[in-house]
Amino acid sequence: APGIAVHSVRFQYAGRSAALDGVSFEAPAGGRTAIVGPSGAGKTTLFALLQRFYEPESGLITVDGTDIAKMPRAEVRRRIGYVEQDAPALSGTLESNLRYAAPDATDDDLTEVLQATRLMDLVERLPDGLNTMVGTRGVALSGGERQRLAIARALLRRPQVLLMDEATSQLDARNEVALREAVDQAAERCTVLLIAHRLSTVVSADQIVVLERGRVVATGTHDQLLEAS
Ligand code: ADP
Ligand code: ADP
Repeated sequence: APGIAVHSVRFQYAGRSAALDGVSFEAPAGGRTAIVGPSGAGKTTLFALLQRFYEPESGLITVDGTDIAKMPRAEVRRRIGYVEQDAPALSGTLESNLRYAAPDATDDDLTEVLQATRLMDLVERLPDGLNTMVGTRGVALSGGERQRLAIARALLRRPQVLLMDEATSQLDARNEVALREAVDQAAERCTVLLIAHRLSTVVSADQIVVLERGRVVATGTHDQLLEAS
């Protein structure tokens, strides 16, 4: 099946109770699935397994029908992109950052991704367009702009899946809207899986998987979950 399928995954850190205990869910292709749960629920561990930093003790994870345990790690990294929560500050130009992430990308690819992540305005505001120095001690990018740049870098590599740590809490309203639009655009290009702490921040996800103490305790849309609680 296209998208991600997690089947009865169990994982335990040495000497601890299970961090993931029989976790199953499907994240359909071209949608936004949010993993919501309190601290310690197992969200970070799940992302680590999806990137094969760890192997499940039992169970299976497939991406577009292929068992990731049977893929070379380089292929897992190519197929599954990760956008970190605190995207690092830029050094160099916006363009060089993007080109470094995807040396084979064409100018059209760059333009397309800059538009999708709502960064085009930023580029056009600067005198030399893509070649203008930004970041470091030049024009600082805001936190929201850095997050969108991190999404742009990941998208340029054309992943099948994009993993994101949700981090809209410190953003102002304008940056939050732009980030949501960038995530929506990303979901048109790949399967998006995002981590969130609270249900209220993932109203627009197509599906929400609620994780508690390593188990899936509910699955549904935002409205379905509100009705059930
Ligand atoms: P989150 O739900 O985003 O993981 P936490 O408060 O649980 O937030 O964790 C904060 C940070 O500490 C995260 O980057 C997480 O990966 C890391 N972390 C959480 N638990 C552990 C742990 N037991 N050992 C090492 N790092 C951890
Ligand atoms: P979340 O991201 O939802 O906060 P985590 O996946 O970080 O949850 O943690 C799930 C459980 O695994 C917690 O009990 C946490 O303390 C434990 N844990 C996380 N990382 C480690 C680690 N590196 N070593 C031991 N225990 C860990």
